[in-house]
Amino acid sequence: MSKRKFLFAANWKMNKRVSDVAPFIADLNRELELLKGKVAQDFEVVIAPPATHLLPAVDSSKNTAIQIGAQNCGHAKSGAFTGEISPQVLKEIHCEWVILGHSERRHLYLEDDARILGRLKAAWDEQLKVILCVGETLPERKGQRTTQVVERQLQILREASGIPEDRLVVAYEPVWAIGTGENATPDQAQEVHQFIRNWLKSNFSNSASEKTRILYGGSVKPDNSQELMGKPDVDGFLVGGASLEVSSFLGIIKNAFKSRG
Ligand code: PEP
Repeated sequence: MSKRKFLFAANWKMNKRVSDVAPFIADLNRELELLKGKVAQDFEVVIAPPATHLLPAVDSSKNTAIQIGAQNCGHAKSGAFTGEISPQVLKEIHCEWVILGHSERRHLYLEDDARILGRLKAAWDEQLKVILCVGETLPERKGQRTTQVVERQLQILREASGIPEDRLVVAYEPVWAIGTGENATPDQAQEVHQFIRNWLKSNFSNSASEKTRILYGGSVKPDNSQELMGKPDVDGFLVGGASLEVSSFLGIIKNAFKSRG
């Protein structure tokens, strides 16, 4: 069994109101404390709300084991970058995580690998932990270009001049599975996760490959998390839609644990 601590990350996208944050975190924390596996000791939970919700989220999660993440960050500490979020300020408010390269950023806002690399370097300069999303579109999968695309997206890690092993998580999120209700099969996920782990080994080290958590994302629900988590290279999930309700997010966590005893 892997020694990597499971990670369950909630990507709220542009959903929920600021007033939803405190009750959600209080409810989730109460339920997490009742679980057999112990949050912080056996697994980690990160909530990534919209930027406007980050301060109250950090406040509400004090004295809990729930951690807070942003959904993106800028490539510089400060400056004339309208609409961007400073990684330095994320650190200042004790937001420890940031999601980078989400497919909605890549496809709706045309963020390319070079731009994501700038954000990655800036995030790591501030000691933030990064969830780097990679994944192919449906035409790319049909054209059997999945690993080629994922490998290209991973290249920015080589250009970042060294990866801080404890601050990198990779999320494999096939674009065709995000928000569609159609998840990758456990075998499809495992195949790509294994590819990513091998890539980390050949481009960095055994230790980078063994320590880096690789999450699956794309229509994860309570009724598919056990099976997906049964695969050896699946170390947790990045969850969109099903993270918006405490009951379904918790159901994913509970069922995932069933697969590992
Ligand atoms: C996501 O946005 O990262 C995601 C995986 O969404 P969903 O779970 O809704 O497919």
